[in-house]
Amino acid sequence: MDQVDVIVIGAGVVGLAAACRLAQRWPEKSILLLEKNRTFGLEMSARTSEVIHSGLYYPPGSFKARLCVSGKEKLYDFCTSWQVPYQRLGKLVIARNDEEAAKLDQLQEQALANGIADVTKLEPVAVARLEPNISCQAALFSPSSGIVDTRTLLARLEQVGRKYGAMPVYQQTVTGIARMTGGYCVTYTDASGRSDEVGCRCIVNAAGLGADAVAAMAGIAVDQAGYRIYRCKGEYFSVANEKAGLVSHLIFPASIRELKGSGIPVIKDMGGRLRLGPDAHYAANGLTDYRISPANARQFLAVVGSYLPFLEEDDLSADIAALRCRLLVACGSPPRDFVICHETERDLPGFVNLIGIESPGLTCCLSIADLAGDMLTPLLDG
Ligand SMILES: Cc1cc2nc3c(=O)[nH]c(=O)nc-3n(C[C@H](O)[C@H](O)[C@H](O)COP(=O)(O)OP(=O)(O)OC[C@H]3O[C@@H](n4cnc5c(N)ncnc54)[C@H](O)[C@@H]3O)c2cc1C
Repeated sequence: MDQVDVIVIGAGVVGLAAACRLAQRWPEKSILLLEKNRTFGLEMSARTSEVIHSGLYYPPGSFKARLCVSGKEKLYDFCTSWQVPYQRLGKLVIARNDEEAAKLDQLQEQALANGIADVTKLEPVAVARLEPNISCQAALFSPSSGIVDTRTLLARLEQVGRKYGAMPVYQQTVTGIARMTGGYCVTYTDASGRSDEVGCRCIVNAAGLGADAVAAMAGIAVDQAGYRIYRCKGEYFSVANEKAGLVSHLIFPASIRELKGSGIPVIKDMGGRLRLGPDAHYAANGLTDYRISPANARQFLAVVGSYLPFLEEDDLSADIAALRCRLLVACGSPPRDFVICHETERDLPGFVNLIGIESPGLTCCLSIADLAGDMLTPLLDG
């Protein structure tokens, strides 16, 4: 049986970042990246808002807050170093009513607690100077929020990883993980159903929507551990080109649907497109259904029309849908934190689980990768 030092499972943005950073840190170690699809980045990472978040939405001390704040700067640096198109566009978090206005104060305090000092409160006149075509009562301005060309980012992470010796292999689905002396035996199966095995010292589980299934392969009782993933669908509608220029920044209502609120984000991409979304509703588990009903445009307009008054139903067309890898939360609670865990307490030394890496996972990818590397340092340096 062939033997490598580390196997990273899943070539989305998190697995690519993990393979890349591990290879940069330990160029002498063998890092194998196993991906079930024909190439990298065809699942969650291909269906994001492409926003580099500042980190103001997440509870202080959480992985999401800490890794977003550090990950944002690491991502901007990576994009600059490796010619990935990005823009520090800035985000307006808007209040549409008194309840949301009170939320702005909480968010500004939370931003400060998370170490984001550049968020400022804007009165309507100042908002109108930045965004004359939107309607709101007040806003926070977050200048460090931005957008990135995700396709190029994924390609660069793969290229840089290869340059430092990481070995991505596609169309290989991990189907079994067994403990063996000094590490693990990983079984993988190709598209024709042929299986093979490889031994490794360490595993990084970055399998996105399949991360709970991979954890189960290692013998973890996922329900007991709180690792079960629920698919939460989000849809996007794009705005007609002639109206895309009427908005210049990212516009996020203070209370957004993804966090159990009522607003829908307004996002721009590197091509200048304006899109609305994602909304949020749970999908039947195990199903991958990316269909969008054009009739949902009316529901989007009912929400977004209150802050983008220039929009009409004919301006909207169905764009993409995506599935979030959500961990179970009590009804009405905000999404859970990421699971980033070196499973030593489950007697799985060298096995790092990255589970429930939903938004802001794109922003955090390099920080998550570095943290996984820190967790594996005693084994890889030893
Ligand atoms: C609607 C939506 C919008 C988002 N917008 C943003 C945003 O604007 N900004 C932001 O910071 N974050 C955003 N996110 C979050 C971000 O997209 C995710 O955190 C990130 O893409 C997760 O990457 P990943 O590599 O963990 O997962 P994925 O990209 O899903 O990759 C996992 C990979 O693992 C592979 N895999 C699974 N099982 C196996 C197996 N058994 N064997 C081999 N391979 C396997 C899959 O094929 C897949 O390629 C958004 C998420 C969603 C759903």
